[in-house]
Parts: sequence; C-alpha cells; structure tokens
Amino acid sequence: MIEVYDSLMIYCPQLGGEVPFKYCRTLLHDHLPCRKIIICWEFKLEIGKFLNEHYSLEQIQKALAPPTKTRMETILELIEKAKKVKEEG
Ligand code: SF4
Repeated sequence: MIEVYDSLMIYCPQLGGEVPFKYCRTLLHDHLPCRKIIICWEFKLEIGKFLNEHYSLEQIQKALAPPTKTRMETILELIEKAKKVKEEG
C-alpha cells in the first residue's frame, strides 16, 4: 500500500523544516515524488523498492529527471547560436 510510510518524518533541506513522507512522495503536480526522494530517504527506508513497487519506470524517470533548461540557459544558447550565424554569414 502506497501510504505505508506516509507518517514518517524527515528534515527537508529545501524547506528547512520537517515534512512527512507523504509530502515527499506527492510533491510534483501530478503527485509524483520529489526529485530528491532517493537521496533523502535512502537510509530510512527501502526507497528503491518502494518506487519500483508503486510507480512505472516512466513515472520514476519523469520525477527524477534533471530539471529542464532554465530560461537563462535557453537565452544564452540563442545568443550563442546568433553569434555563430553572424560569424559564419
Ligand atoms: S524528498 Fe524532497 S521534499 Fe522530501 S525531504 Fe527531500 S528534498 Fe524535501
């Protein structure tokens, strides 16, 4: 059952306070786990097994994937490309 660890508490480095496991496992919009769930919980429970049992590979990848590019990175890339075009042109 997915709620089995819900009431366990942990210190959240992002919030600077204690949160229950339920918070960590439903953090993302579509109720997917926080990106750091493995790092934070690996010594407290069998987090790998838990993820494996309750989520599809696709869901796990979606939840744990690195964040998409920031706006600034995208802008910098565009500038870089524009420069190259200018140099080549
Ligand atoms: S898994 Fe995410 S929400 Fe939970 S304690 Fe770690 S950083 Fe905080």
